[in-house]
Amino acid sequence: MDISENIKKYKSELPENVKLVAISKTKPNEDLMEAYNASQRILGENKIQEMTDKWESLPKDIEWHMVGHVQRNKVKYMAPYVSLIHAVDSLKLLKEINKRAKQNERTIDCLLQIKIAEEDSKFGIDAAEAEEILNSEAYSKMKHVNITGLMGMATFTDDKEQVRSEFKYLKSVFDKFREQHPQLKELSMGMSGDYQIAVECGSTMVRIGSSIFGERNYN
Ligand SMILES: *Cc1c(COP(=O)(O)O)cnc(C)c1O
Repeated sequence: MDISENIKKYKSELPENVKLVAISKTKPNEDLMEAYNASQRILGENKIQEMTDKWESLPKDIEWHMVGHVQRNKVKYMAPYVSLIHAVDSLKLLKEINKRAKQNERTIDCLLQIKIAEEDSKFGIDAAEAEEILNSEAYSKMKHVNITGLMGMATFTDDKEQVRSEFKYLKSVFDKFREQHPQLKELSMGMSGDYQIAVECGSTMVRIGSSIFGERNYN
């Protein structure tokens, strides 16, 4: 894999309003530095411990995005530095993020993860639950978290029309929410296999891992 070439390719290919989150999970620091040296500043990880280790040893102007499912008891480890948490799926989790952000005298941006895929295995909440969180009194009192948008993962399938209809649905939820909550500005959708469809459907943030860094080795 030529990581630097891949970063350049995506940066030139993606529309200007679409941010590239390079998903570096399981990859060694040298690979992350290769992306960094190709001017990539947003990196995404799905494990808090791994992200924290990388944050400690890499340049401090990297923006770290947590894209995986978050366990409440681990929020404290990333609260000092995380810049965006993509997969918030409960008010309880939001409360914990608010508490830990406050302890660090920060405000942390979050996205609500909406379940759009058919598969049961995917995390996320439905649009009604997300709306409840956005409109809740509890959230209105939290001074250290900002919900800045929505995130979704499409079904893992070759059926492009199914993927497209799931992304279109998420975009329609996003547009509807924005009527009441104009502060929502990010729509995180699209991965290596489906980012083109996601961009066509209105994504503002794509999360691309294996087509930048190569296949992951989980051993
Ligand atoms: C791993 C991961 C990605 C990147 O997946 P690729 O198919 O390798 O691009 C994107 N989003 C989330 C939430 C992930 O966990």
